[in-house]
Amino acid sequence: MKLYSMEFKRNSVIALYLVTKPQKDIVNSSSLPMGKSQILPLLKFVRKFIDENSLICCYDEINALKLIVSGKDQLKLKQKSSTVVLKVYNEEYYLIGRVMVPDNYPSSAVDIQQVETNFTTPFYTHMIAQAKEIARRCVEAPLNPKPNAAPFVPIPSMEKTLLFLIDCVKRLPFEECPFCMEKCFPSDAKLLERDPNSPNHIERVYCGHVFHQGCLLEFMKQPPFGNKKCAKCGAKLYHFKWSQSDKKAEARWAQEQARDRELQEVSDFLK
Ligand SMILES: [Zn+2]
Ligand SMILES: [Zn+2]
Repeated sequence: MKLYSMEFKRNSVIALYLVTKPQKDIVNSSSLPMGKSQILPLLKFVRKFIDENSLICCYDEINALKLIVSGKDQLKLKQKSSTVVLKVYNEEYYLIGRVMVPDNYPSSAVDIQQVETNFTTPFYTHMIAQAKEIARRCVEAPLNPKPNAAPFVPIPSMEKTLLFLIDCVKRLPFEECPFCMEKCFPSDAKLLERDPNSPNHIERVYCGHVFHQGCLLEFMKQPPFGNKKCAKCGAKLYHFKWSQSDKKAEARWAQEQARDRELQEVSDFLK
């Protein structure tokens, strides 16, 4: 029997079900000897219920997600394998992600087991690495907590993780290139440039905004030099492919390291 740290106080619907349903079943069962202890039937009922409903530990999160998932999008529950499969579409772009809920949820984070998407590699890499990071932060205390911060308590990670993936698919295809102001992602996903050397290849800069590679190169070549800012958010513009000074070379190196770590995480995850 799987054990779950179910928070009945938070989950009032399930708490009510687990209290009233067995009472009705036991009362309605003619095979039960009246006047004797009925604790065993009650325990059997709870055990069967939890075995058959392994995702009950994230019932509230699933309900909240179901309010957002609509149209062609789907949230499929696989009780036997304790997994949730998210299918999210935005016109021709899609992401299908399988997320496993561990036995000791929410003390441990959800495990992103498989992601399939038609976004290009930089976005695929970023989505997985960032989703895993969001899940990790829900259950691991920060290395440098703020002074006077309350003691860290793990929080459920499924809703936050899946909301991030849904947001990526719903937002990215409409993102404009800050240089030419055209939509970066073509309406026809088959026309999405997959050659990383092409000017039409889409690059994600450090702040998260997206440029055509050719536009980013043009922008970096234009004065003023040394303090380029993202036109969308005002953040300093960094991309590992471009550097012009020692300081930038250092930043480039740091970014390459970060990117290598992201890629390593993804490659470890795909093993
Ligand atoms: Zn552009
Ligand atoms: Zn930006």
